[in-house]
Amino acid sequence: MPHNGRNSRISRVDFDYDVQPTTDVIVCNLCGSGDSAHVASLDRYGYAAPSRKCGDCGLIFLSRVMTLPAYQKFYDCVYRPLVSAYHGRTIDAQTIQREQADYAQQLRSFVWPELDKDLGRFLDIGGSTGVVAATLLKHFSGQATLLDPAGAEVAVARSYGLAVRQEFLETAALEKETYDTVLLCQTIDHLLDIRLSLEKIHHTLRSDGLLYLDIVDTDVLLHAAPDIEDILKIDHPFYLTDSTMRRYLEATGFQVIKSNTLDDGFHVAYLAGKAANEQ
Ligand SMILES: [Zn+2]
Repeated sequence: MPHNGRNSRISRVDFDYDVQPTTDVIVCNLCGSGDSAHVASLDRYGYAAPSRKCGDCGLIFLSRVMTLPAYQKFYDCVYRPLVSAYHGRTIDAQTIQREQADYAQQLRSFVWPELDKDLGRFLDIGGSTGVVAATLLKHFSGQATLLDPAGAEVAVARSYGLAVRQEFLETAALEKETYDTVLLCQTIDHLLDIRLSLEKIHHTLRSDGLLYLDIVDTDVLLHAAPDIEDILKIDHPFYLTDSTMRRYLEATGFQVIKSNTLDDGFHVAYLAGKAANEQ
């Protein structure tokens, strides 16, 4: 549960989660099972966002999520102020650029051996302020398209001269085999439908293309957090682990080329290509 100072900062964000339109999630997005067990009733902000764990594959997920239009407004206006209130410091489209630049350097060294030529046409899903894409373009050639629902962040991305689409992956129209590289940086936990999203990425990725993504490893977080409610949050519909992420990739026609734990110790990065029988 939030402590007192945090509790009052969160209430000053003035976001009434209880009146948001929501839908119930009954079937596991990863394995399709309807067998799940209740995990928690609240998230880390104190919102009544219940969660469940699949009895078959172990995926933890929010069992009641906001509708897509409600999430659109949330990411546009509430998400960064809410995270700022939780941590007690300002986190916005300006302050996150330094963190994203550090992240881009890690990403660059991780993908460097496989991308010695160039990124080609690349799609940065959840690309935020564009710092990651712009940093990569200092070291690789390529043409970037950035997809993100947050208005303040895509405005910064436009200032870098990047092609920007302010929309969710789940509703974006993507042409078949258009991109050489797809990035999902610190984004997959935010998706509303991971399976649909990975299928869309598979559809839009060229046969020899590469997908980079990373997860927050729930096993690592649960090891450090005494109370599971401390890691649950309305902006993360899904709580992945190394095994559930690999299962998702296999189920959607990808094969992992390599993986690595990032410097913070709880993000795990994956580089994947299309599985041989899927190309
Ligand atoms: Zn499952």
